[in-house]
Amino acid sequence: MRKHIVAGNWKMNNDLAQTQALISDLKKQKQTSSAEVMIAPAFTNLWSAFESLRQNSIEVVAQNMHFAANGAYTGEVSAAMLKSIGVSTVILGHSERRAYFNETDELLAKKVDAALANDMRVIFCFGEELADRKSGAQEQVVESQIKNALFHLDASAFEQIVLAYEPVWAIGTGETASPEQAQDMHAFIRKTLNDTYGSAVADEVSILYGGSVKPDNAKEIFSKPDVDGGLIGGASLKAEDFFAIVNAF
Ligand code: PGA
Repeated sequence: MRKHIVAGNWKMNNDLAQTQALISDLKKQKQTSSAEVMIAPAFTNLWSAFESLRQNSIEVVAQNMHFAANGAYTGEVSAAMLKSIGVSTVILGHSERRAYFNETDELLAKKVDAALANDMRVIFCFGEELADRKSGAQEQVVESQIKNALFHLDASAFEQIVLAYEPVWAIGTGETASPEQAQDMHAFIRKTLNDTYGSAVADEVSILYGGSVKPDNAKEIFSKPDVDGGLIGGASLKAEDFFAIVNAF
C-alpha cells in the first residue's frame, strides 16, 4: 500500500508568533484518516515548529535547501543544517522556485543528490504551465522534468522520493485540475516510472497532487487511484481547512 501524504506548504507566510498560533490550532484538530501529515514553515520558524511538534505526528519539513555541503553561499541553507534541527524531509522544485529563482532541472538534480546523501526524504515538485496544457505538451513537459532531475538515481533511491504533480496553472489560482486530469497525469507519471524502473518502484512511489486543493474538492481528487495525497498551499494556512483535507482520505 502506498503512503497517503498531505503536506502543507506555507510558502512565505507566518512569522514566529503566527507559526506558533497555527501550530497550536493544528494540535486541536482531530485526525480521522491515516495519512501522513506534514507542514512546511519558513526556514526561520522550522526549529520552533519542530520543538512544538515533538510529541505530535505532524512532521515539520523544509521548503527548499542548497545543494552544497557548506561554504560561501550567502543566504543559503544546507541539508546538514536542516538535519541538525530534526528536519529530514525537503520540498524541492516547487514551480515558484523554478519561476522566480531560476531553478532548473539540472540544479534540482544536484539538490536531490544532496538531500539523499544526507538521508533526507524529498518531495519533488513539477508540472506544466498553461501554454503547455493548451498545446497538448503537458505529458512531454512533465516527463522531461522528472527524467532530467531524477532518472540518474538508482531504483533504491525512490524509497526516499515523493512526487508532487502541480500544474502551474492551478497553483493559487482557484482553478483545480479536474480529478480526471489529475488521475490521467498521475497514471502517466507512474507509467514513466514503470518503463524505467519497473513496478517495484512505480507501484510504491506516492504521487501527490497540488494546485488549489480545498476542503470541498479534496475528497474527489483523493478518490482517484493514482492520487496518493496532496501538496496544499493556501488551504494549509487554516487549521480547520487543512485537517478537512487531511481527513478527506
Ligand atoms: P495552492 O498551492 O494550494 O495555494 O494552489 C499549492 C502549492 O503551491 O503547493
